[in-house]
Amino acid sequence: MIRSLLRAPARPALDWASIAARAARGIGISEAEGIAIGALETPEEISALLACTDGIRTTHKGNAINTCGITNARSGRCPEKCNFCSQSAHFETAAPTYTTKSADLIAAEAKAAFEGGVREFSIVMAGRSIHADKDLTTLETAFRTIRAETGLQTCASLGLMKKKDLARLQAAGMESMHHNLETARSHHANIVESHTYDDERETIIAAKELGMYVCSGGIFGMGETWAQRVELALDLRALNVDSVPVNFLNPRPGTPMEGMKELTPLDCLKIIAMLRLVMPTKDIIVCGGREMNLLHGQDNMFKAGANGLMLGNYLTTAGSALQDDLDRLERDGLVVRAPPHQPHPPSVPPAVRSTGTDMGALADKNAGV
Ligand code: SF4
Repeated sequence: MIRSLLRAPARPALDWASIAARAARGIGISEAEGIAIGALETPEEISALLACTDGIRTTHKGNAINTCGITNARSGRCPEKCNFCSQSAHFETAAPTYTTKSADLIAAEAKAAFEGGVREFSIVMAGRSIHADKDLTTLETAFRTIRAETGLQTCASLGLMKKKDLARLQAAGMESMHHNLETARSHHANIVESHTYDDERETIIAAKELGMYVCSGGIFGMGETWAQRVELALDLRALNVDSVPVNFLNPRPGTPMEGMKELTPLDCLKIIAMLRLVMPTKDIIVCGGREMNLLHGQDNMFKAGANGLMLGNYLTTAGSALQDDLDRLERDGLVVRAPPHQPHPPSVPPAVRSTGTDMGALADKNAGV
C-alpha cells in the first residue's frame, strides 16, 4: 500500500504514430496531448518527440526555412505598459528612443536585409497603435519601394490596428501583419496592464478578415504555466493565424521582468514542438531570446518543428551573426524559402469536443462563443 502511494505518477502515453498520421491531414493535437508534452523529460521521450515533429515539419514544409528580418522604425516612449518591454515609457531602461524613420531609410534597411538572405521584412513601430496620416504615408511609401526594389515579403507590426488603416497599408503593398497575443488569456492581465487580450485579438481578426498573412504568437518564460502555453497555442489555432513567432523572454534591465530566467533549452524545444503539434500546417518561427534561452538547443530547433528563423538584430537587442545562421541552415540540409509564402490550410482541432477540458471548448471559450 505504502509502496504504491510512493510510486511515481504514470507518465501520460502519447501515441506518436497516431499524432503523426493526424498531423499529415492537418489535424493538431488535443489539449490533453499538449499538456502531456510538458511532462516529457527522459532522453527516450525527447527523441521520440523530436522524431515526430521533424517528420511533421518535413511533411508540410519540406526543407525550406522562412527567414525574417525587422527594423525598429520608431523606438521607445511607448505609453503602453507591457511588463516585458524596454520601450514602455513606464520603465527606466536603456532602450533607444527616436521618432519614425524616413521611408528611404526603412527601404534601405530592407534592401540590405534582402541582400543578406532575409526573405520577409517587418517594419515595427512602438506605440499603442499607428493611425496618424503622416506615419501611414511613410509606411505606404516604404512598402511601395520595398515591393518595387526587392523580392521581400512585406510585413509590419504596428500595435492595435484598425481595419481601415490596415486596408490602406495593404493597398500599398503590406502583405503580412504581425501582432502577438503575448501570452495566454488567463495570464495576459499579469503581463499587459494597458490593454486587454481581446484588444490584441481584434487586431488579428481585422487582418484575417482582410486576407492578410497573419503572424501572431507570444513570449514564453514570463511566469506562465505549461498549461497556459498550451492555452495560448489553442487560441492561435482557433484564430487560424498563418505564422507563429516564438519568443523566449530576454529580461530587460529596468523592466519588472529584470532578472527573470525560467526556461531551460529543453523547455524551449518542448514549446516549439508543442506549437508544431498543435498547428501542424502553420509556420513556426523562432525569434527573440533564442540565443540566451535555447543555447545549444538551437541545434535541434528545426527538428522540434520550427520552419522559420528571425535573422539579424531584434528590436532592442543584438541577434546572431547573419552568416552563422545561414551556415547553420546549410549544415542542416535546409534552404531559405523564397516568397511569397504559400497559403496555409488551417490546422484543425480534433473532432472530439465532448469534455469540458477539450481544446475545442477552450477555443470557443477564448473566442467568446
Ligand atoms: S510591447 Fe509594444 S505596445 Fe507594449 S510597451 Fe512595448 S512597444 Fe509599447
